[in-house]
Amino acid sequence: MKVLLTSTSFQDCDGSHKELLNKQGWEVSYLRGPLKKSEIINEVAKYDALICGDDELDREVLERGVMGKLKYISKYGVGLDKVDLNAAKEFGIPVTNCPGVNQVAVAEHVLAMIFSFFKNIHLSHQITSQGGWQRPLGNELFGKKIGIIGLGAIGKEVAKRTPILGMETYVFDVYLDTEFTRVNNLIALDSVEDVFKTCDIVSMHVPLLESTKGLISKKLLHETVKTGLVLVNTSRAGLVEEQDILDAISNGKLGGYLTDVLAVEPIDRDCKLMNQPGILITPHIGSRAKETIQRQGIKAVSNLKELIKSYE
Ligand code: NAD
Repeated sequence: MKVLLTSTSFQDCDGSHKELLNKQGWEVSYLRGPLKKSEIINEVAKYDALICGDDELDREVLERGVMGKLKYISKYGVGLDKVDLNAAKEFGIPVTNCPGVNQVAVAEHVLAMIFSFFKNIHLSHQITSQGGWQRPLGNELFGKKIGIIGLGAIGKEVAKRTPILGMETYVFDVYLDTEFTRVNNLIALDSVEDVFKTCDIVSMHVPLLESTKGLISKKLLHETVKTGLVLVNTSRAGLVEEQDILDAISNGKLGGYLTDVLAVEPIDRDCKLMNQPGILITPHIGSRAKETIQRQGIKAVSNLKELIKSYE
């Protein structure tokens, strides 16, 4: 069994996930992802299985793979938006992912970004690093209204924590867990528009699908939004157009954009959002915690073991 593993956090962090992988007797090769199409297309056919991160596995790549050895894909992570799932199904390549392992790490990252921004931690550190002592004025989170769009695994972990900070917590999901909402004293809203009209901070936790691409429209950012709203995106860049974000920040509609995800990753020199006031960017590290890496790695390896067993 020849396996290609592309996740850098899996490779770079020691622990029980590596021990489990090494026990399988697979011949494992490593590349450092996320791989662009041009980097994987000539590799993919050599392997029976991929343990992948956010590599570009579009129709052409999968077709090339299946013409060679490729039989199984185990995604190390949750979001499957870089895999053409329709093509995978058509070519008979089963695809698994790892729900339920990284929601706490991502929820904590959301809060870390919000705290940094509202308390100016990032700016203050820059100031003191240069020997300065200018003291920026921050804001309290207490009493602020936060809206969570997508009350799934990550949205729920955020929603469990924000009421403890004294934040009024609003939620919207197309399939709302009403029991969770009731038990945690959350306030359900009927639409994304209502969330944007009501809240001071909005955090997005929906997958990138055809139905959610561009969910945060120009109209929402320019007409509906409560002025000064801070938008947090740890989901996927494709939920919004980066140019619309820049425009909404420069005309004062948005108070900030805190993002862990970019339209082009890794960041490139032409990234419109880089070094812009009101914008905080982290390099897609929401789930990169030591604890998560082991859980996610074990799940990705176990998923592949199960796939192989069930197709033997
Ligand atoms: P999940 O599947 O548990 O939850 C997604 C929720 O979104 C579901 O409850 C679903 O009903 C809801 N939803 C779908 N379409 C909607 C819409 N149009 N409007 C409102 N709600 C909608 O997923 P999750 O584990 O919470 O992860 C969410 C996303 O976060 C992933 O798809 C992935 O893109 C991203 N993610 C990012 C990182 C990171 O490191 N930054 C890590 C993990 C996941």
